[in-house]
Parts: sequence; structure tokens; C-alpha cells
Amino acid sequence: MSRLGLTHCRWPRCQIRVPAGRWGCREHWYALPWQLRKPLIATVEPAQLAGGAPSQAWLEASDRARAWAEKQAADPNQEPLL
Ligand SMILES: [Zn+2]
Repeated sequence: MSRLGLTHCRWPRCQIRVPAGRWGCREHWYALPWQLRKPLIATVEPAQLAGGAPSQAWLEASDRARAWAEKQAADPNQEPLL
């Protein structure tokens, strides 16, 4: 965990720094389908927003979003819904 509670956007190759508790920068957050954003919102915890470690549930949701983002970055024409 970095100081000031900042982390990197989890979109592939994006270097934008975002506050702890956010999955990615504004552009990439809204590039995710709602089905992927919803569990990230549902599982974020106050400790994470304060710069603490994410919950296991959030990490799993993050991994799913990241996997989708990897495919989207490689092929922007993939189906927008899983
Ligand atoms: Zn980004």
C-alpha cells in the first residue's frame, strides 16, 4: 500500500493514480460493465477507503474486472456484457 492511500488504476497499462478504494480512474471505471462495477461497490469497506487492505471479496471482484479489461484492451469490439 502506498502512502496517502493512493493506488494505480487497474486498467491494463493505465498509470493514473486513484484514491484507495477506487478500482480505476474515472474513464476506465465507467468503461467497465455495470455487472463488474456493482460487486466492487458492494464489497468495498471503510478500512479500504482509508488506505487499508481490500477485502477478499473485493479482490476477487477486482480480478474479474481486470480480466475483462485485459480482453477489452486487446479487442475493443468484444461483447460489452459477459
Ligand atoms: Zn485508468
